[in-house]
Amino acid sequence: MSKIFCLILLLTITGCSLGSDQPCLDLGGHCQYDSNRCSGSYYSGKCAGSANRRCCIVAGDQPCIDLGGHCQDDSNRCGGSYYSGKCTGSANRRCCTRTAVEHDTGDCSNVKIISRDSWGARRPGSTSTIYTPVPDFFIHHTTGGACTSFSSCISQMKIIQDYHMDDANHRWADIGYSFLVGEDGKIYEGRGWDQVGAHTLGYNSRGLAASFMGNFETHAPNSAALNAVKALIQCGISKGKVSQSYALFGHRDVSSSACPGTALYNVIKTWARFKAHSP
Ligand SMILES: [Zn+2]
Repeated sequence: MSKIFCLILLLTITGCSLGSDQPCLDLGGHCQYDSNRCSGSYYSGKCAGSANRRCCIVAGDQPCIDLGGHCQDDSNRCGGSYYSGKCTGSANRRCCTRTAVEHDTGDCSNVKIISRDSWGARRPGSTSTIYTPVPDFFIHHTTGGACTSFSSCISQMKIIQDYHMDDANHRWADIGYSFLVGEDGKIYEGRGWDQVGAHTLGYNSRGLAASFMGNFETHAPNSAALNAVKALIQCGISKGKVSQSYALFGHRDVSSSACPGTALYNVIKTWARFKAHSP
């Protein structure tokens, strides 16, 4: 918030403070009024606002601080990567680092799947287990920004998850797709192999879905992204998550949507098992 805007707010409401809590967050702490007990150590001069607002660093959070992170409730998104088992308290209180570290789920030897924790995903509001192996696999595009690097792809992932969870027209429990793919040739874990998604109305309980990040109406994704999704489907078969006799569909095959874009649709039409059975 700009200082000028903040000063204007100060005139009308109370509690608008100049400065920032970032120095405290950088130490792995949180700011609170020091009339409250801190179950670790207090530090002055690290928090915005009143001098009584001080930085509390919880002793048991040290493993997270050693990682260069801070502990927070994982219903919030993380600017870097999440780590479990580094913070005191509930299992939902997890360590969020400042920068993201690339972690593979290790699910597939033929393609890299960047884990939810790696891209700093928010905890889902709820989950529902899907019956596998699924008979159908659906292809989508996001119609949003394309990405060609780890950092630009994870920023897209956060934008899409926030949109699916917070936008008034969605308010879904989580990012809708099972997986997403960037033109960096990596798969990004969405709801993953075992959860019912919110991607293909009427078919979410019988199919998994991969969505290409970008808009592929007039041009197809690069070969790195296309090959990653082909490898993902093969990996799904080998893990028993996708039926060997699966049918591949574009979103438009089962809805009035233009998804996954004409140029991409023309590519997947040539892939194995395309519309191997009627939708
Ligand atoms: Zn779609």
